[in-house]
Amino acid sequence: MAIERTFSIIKPDAVERNLIGDILKMITEAGLKIKGMRMIHMSKEQAEGFYAVHKERPFFGELVEYMTSGPVVVSCLEGENAIENYRKLMGATNPEQAEEGTIRARFGQNIQNNSCHGSDAPDTARNEVAFFFNEDELVG
Ligand code: ATP
Ligand code: MG
Repeated sequence: MAIERTFSIIKPDAVERNLIGDILKMITEAGLKIKGMRMIHMSKEQAEGFYAVHKERPFFGELVEYMTSGPVVVSCLEGENAIENYRKLMGATNPEQAEEGTIRARFGQNIQNNSCHGSDAPDTARNEVAFFFNEDELVG
């Protein structure tokens, strides 16, 4: 299995409830290394660009509103099989369907306010990391 990078967002609902530390603890205990990390408040343009694949979905407007409603923590994570491992650690999109012990089962509020994002494939991981980080910022 190769060392991979993936992209993570601790979403506004989780930052608002002071869960950054709890979620980062789960991430690092899962063996994922933080290569770069930043707290930002996304602009509407950034959120629309980041979630452009969902622009035809009925929830797109609300998703952009939610992702710009408060600060988020973006990070680049690295490890063995990082993309799939982090998706497993997050759990299903809908917290009600997320497996016990996952980030979304523990902290997610509903299908939108589900506390975290993780890339779903190598090409999206590469694009999402590059959307928020320059290579020289990934010093971890
Ligand atoms: P993410 O891309 O954030 O890691 P995901 O891959 O599990 O999540 P996607 O289908 O890519 O899920 O949806 C992106 C985000 O849009 C979800 O994480 C959630 O915040 C929101 N979302 C997804 N489905 C719905 C829905 N039916 N209603 C409202 N919001 C939704
Ligand atoms: Mg997704």
